[in-house]
Amino acid sequence: MKLISACLLGIKCTWDGTDKYKSEKAIELLKDETLIPVCPEQLGGLPTPRAPQEIQGRAGEDVLKGKCRVMNTNGEDITPEFIRGAEETLRMAKLFKVSQFIGKSRSPSCGFGEIYDGTFSEKPIEGDGVTTALLRRNGIKVITEEDL
Ligand code: SF4
Repeated sequence: MKLISACLLGIKCTWDGTDKYKSEKAIELLKDETLIPVCPEQLGGLPTPRAPQEIQGRAGEDVLKGKCRVMNTNGEDITPEFIRGAEETLRMAKLFKVSQFIGKSRSPSCGFGEIYDGTFSEKPIEGDGVTTALLRRNGIKVITEEDL
């Protein structure tokens, strides 16, 4: 059993109220295994649609350590919602004993290995989203849809 970013399955939970369904690959996995869709930002209490948001200049692990914040384009600090969403996703991972999370690439919540730098200019930097960082800290393997 695996967790997957809900937007990859066509669920319209992204910041602009759309999805990130780009290929059949994630759906095809459902033929052979159970995928549990999660949207950490919604689980953290953020609305849909919502303002774009990025980790400011660092990565998810730094957010968990309290070294940097997650801000949206309205200048609002939404770090508490991101941390809550990560914790609730981890709760689900433990409840269902999942071994892997398939995250949406470069998301400030679900990204793995690369995220945006916090300037809202789509400039990538090395690092994980907040939820990915917490899941990895707890031994859960993470890939993105680009690895499928
Ligand atoms: Fe998709 Fe994750 Fe963003 Fe939710 S938080 S919209 S699941 S990338």
